[in-house]
Amino acid sequence: MDIIQNEKNYILQVYKRYPLVLVRGKGKYVWDEQGKRYLDFFSGLSVCNVGHCHPRVVSAVKRQAAKLMHVSNLYYTEPQVALAARLVERTFPGKVFLSNSGAEANECAIKLARKWGKQTVAGGDMPDRYEIVTFLNSFHGRTLATLSATGQKKFHKGFEPLLNDFPFAEFNDLGSVERLLNEKTVAVLVEPVQGEGGVHVATKEFLQGLRTLCDHRKLLLIVDEIQSGMGRTGSLFAWQRYGVKPDIITSAKSLAGGLPLGATIVSDAAAQAFNAGDHGSTFGGNLVSCAAAIEVLSILDPALLEKVDALGNYFMFRLAKLARKYPFIKAVRGLGLMTGLELTVPGRDIVTACLDKGLLINCTQETVLRFLPPLIINRNDIRTAVGILDEALSEIHAA
Ligand SMILES: *Cc1c(COP(=O)(O)O)cnc(C)c1O
Repeated sequence: MDIIQNEKNYILQVYKRYPLVLVRGKGKYVWDEQGKRYLDFFSGLSVCNVGHCHPRVVSAVKRQAAKLMHVSNLYYTEPQVALAARLVERTFPGKVFLSNSGAEANECAIKLARKWGKQTVAGGDMPDRYEIVTFLNSFHGRTLATLSATGQKKFHKGFEPLLNDFPFAEFNDLGSVERLLNEKTVAVLVEPVQGEGGVHVATKEFLQGLRTLCDHRKLLLIVDEIQSGMGRTGSLFAWQRYGVKPDIITSAKSLAGGLPLGATIVSDAAAQAFNAGDHGSTFGGNLVSCAAAIEVLSILDPALLEKVDALGNYFMFRLAKLARKYPFIKAVRGLGLMTGLELTVPGRDIVTACLDKGLLINCTQETVLRFLPPLIINRNDIRTAVGILDEALSEIHAA
């Protein structure tokens, strides 16, 4: 079967794919149909943070799949409760809503913030509050509410009218947030590191300033950790590196190490806004996904997380060296192993050149090369990747 041709025949054409059919993965490597091996510095968009088909995740999945896959959320099940307890233990006292994806995790946060903003919940003589300040260049998902919350026009095009109560502030600019606040504002939604937007890292002053602002105005601080979470930046969640405690965390992507799962972790105070019947999902907190996530969390232990920071620093150091060699490299940015290289030229050709040489990387915003390697790599893998990237860049440079 010609997979690439048949994909065009049968699959809705919303993805611009690279001409590559992948069939197998193990740790930091994936293999294509011809048996060619690739070093994966993309991890399925920061989904396989513990590497492909981690043996402990695979056996947890097998065990749970053979035991019980689904019974609906009308009954109690052990894997959901065990996972939620672990997430709370490693964040703050609160409650968790389990869903299936990032967009759903954010959708839950948005609905909860709205409910919390109703006079009946917030109390006093406050008017209903429902505006959520988000940021230019942000990415929060593809459902209509999360698309409305996404501060990038290119994703909105063709889908208007959207919800119009997500005013967009400038990332890393507190003043721009303050100017948007009014009596209708209920929350601020922010990625500690903007991923899709081109790997922009929040400054400490900015996140701390947002916390102070939210405290003064009685707003919920929601951090979208769907990409920056699960060890990616060197702590379980990026906010933990900033000393800024949010009211709500959204997680997905790498949460279940390759299976679909979303989580909205809500502080005990905010959690009171939801009552039975206010939200739900048939598949939310699928038992096999939960079993995988429990294993992922235990693999992401302090020893592994500590290595991420050192590896990230080494990677940034090597990329900075490349930046001195190639004048078309404009900036090197990152936190932990969430890394970007901004070019003054389009990046897609470089991604393709790396692919030919056996390295998977990504390009976002046309000109930002994005690297999201599995957290289990070592310095040697970084040297290999930088070597391949160097070759690819020199070819483009020579052309
Ligand atoms: C990927 C992503 C989402 C959306 O997650 P889906 O699982 O694709 O719905 C939301 N926010 C951020 C920061 C993301 O990176």
